[in-house]
Amino acid sequence: MAPKAGGDAIKANSSVYKDKSKPTDIRLSNINAAKAVADAIRTSLGPRGMDKMIQAANGEVTITNDGATILKQMSVIHPAAKMLVELSRAQDIEAGDGTTSVVVIAGALLDSAEKLLQKGIHPTVISDGFQKALQLALQVVENMSTPVDLNNEDALLKAAATSLNSKVVSQHSTILAPIAVQAIRAVMEPIVSGVGARVDLRDVKVIERIGGTVEDAELIQGLVIPHRAANVNGPHRIEKAKVGLIQFCISPPKTDMDHNVIVSDYAAMDRVLKEERQYILNMVKQIKKAGCNVLLVQKSILRDALSDLAVHFLDKIKTMVIKDIEREDIEFVCKTLGCRPIASLDHFTAENLVNVDLVEEINEPGGKYIKMTGCGQGGRTVSVLVRGSSGAVVAEAARSLHDALCAVRCVARRPALLAGGGAPEAAAAASLARASLAAPGADHYCLRAYADALEVIPSTLAENAGLNPIETVTELRAAHAAGAGGGAGVNVRRGRVTDMRTEHVLQPLHVTASALALATETVRAILKIDDIINTMN
Ligand code: ADP
Ligand code: MG
Repeated sequence: MAPKAGGDAIKANSSVYKDKSKPTDIRLSNINAAKAVADAIRTSLGPRGMDKMIQAANGEVTITNDGATILKQMSVIHPAAKMLVELSRAQDIEAGDGTTSVVVIAGALLDSAEKLLQKGIHPTVISDGFQKALQLALQVVENMSTPVDLNNEDALLKAAATSLNSKVVSQHSTILAPIAVQAIRAVMEPIVSGVGARVDLRDVKVIERIGGTVEDAELIQGLVIPHRAANVNGPHRIEKAKVGLIQFCISPPKTDMDHNVIVSDYAAMDRVLKEERQYILNMVKQIKKAGCNVLLVQKSILRDALSDLAVHFLDKIKTMVIKDIEREDIEFVCKTLGCRPIASLDHFTAENLVNVDLVEEINEPGGKYIKMTGCGQGGRTVSVLVRGSSGAVVAEAARSLHDALCAVRCVARRPALLAGGGAPEAAAAASLARASLAAPGADHYCLRAYADALEVIPSTLAENAGLNPIETVTELRAAHAAGAGGGAGVNVRRGRVTDMRTEHVLQPLHVTASALALATETVRAILKIDDIINTMN
């Protein structure tokens, strides 16, 4: 009996070992799932790309053209498809723009890889071949980029405008592009040793407001708080303000435990009320003594940050009070005003207050908001008010502005611009195709396949603009064939191939370089997977 059982075990083992089709099946299923994601957003690429209407489970509707936003909201189940969603997010974090391009490139690379697998080339060989191709492509795009001077506002404006071109709000790019450039220029800090400048996008606060049109977008050198003051009869405009930001509440204190106090006679009730009045009055007196006339109060989740009595007293001493400053906004408020949050009444003294030239409550049809300007002691921050007629429009305008801000930030970080319209991808493809001729063995196929995949960008731009993709790509290939194509790209307005630099379609080098690098990295990772294992839980 025993030898038989042993033989069975060997047979079973060898059959598992011989199951060679499984890794191939898994790989193909991964590639197909990921390609499906890329196909889903292909039509949104470029200035003539379509927009998507996304309906959430709660009925909320988003209209967008931004790859990262579309993918974020898509419910994706397949683990390999999720990798493309992650890829788009990675590009969003790294560069902020090019989130559609990166996924479209990854989709095309996977398609090429599938063909190479069918030729019998081993996945690891393809993966290495793609890495070599990436290095070459990066060199090509770097060589064709033109360095820019960060003081040259015109170049930055072009980068912002190209990014806005492909958005729903593209007709407002003349308003939004200068805002993006001014905002980034206001907050950037030049790197002392080296090129470029550091930009922290957290220093640009974009505030969305319904009402008005996208053209009413406004850049404010100061602080905007998107709600009204809490005062009932208090002042609505204060010049030469002394502002204090507090993190404690001006309302009757509560104990940590839930409890009831039963008050059974009027005298006792009177005492409780008197006590409360005295408590609040003391706080307000201290505020007045410090000379504060604008009080910002951090939002409290435990109890009312301000009691009615407190508002009444603050009205009387003519102090403007603005409550519900979100906890996550405190850092921005402090940086903008140059103040520190005051955590207890004992520290509410004159030296902890800051001077602001003007604090006013602005009343507009969409509601009231507070604007503080002339924050002399503050740091380098700006606020941008984005307006629009409906929630969907405002949200998309804000997202588009985010992309434009990111595009300008990319130029600040790595001051070089490339021609757009698929020019860098076409130039890299031409160069790779030439290199493939001399490459030995499987590399020949890999470089060639990578080159074909890169042409997906010009071909999709043409397709989305209603041009014939094959004709356009052939024309583009011919332009770049000799290696002197320069900025030849798909001119979607004129419907043919022209030099995009003369069209002023310029995009940051960092966006394209990062899209190529991240897409290749993800494709290489997908190729190396040969099994999916589910955990038990
Ligand atoms: P992404 O989310 O990847 O930024 P977009 O929809 O913004 O996607 O499209 C970006 C692509 O559109 C880039 O390849 C860019 O060069 C191209 N593009 C932008 N403006 C123009 C234009 N006016 N003509 C041709 N191509 C353009
Ligand atoms: Mg874009």
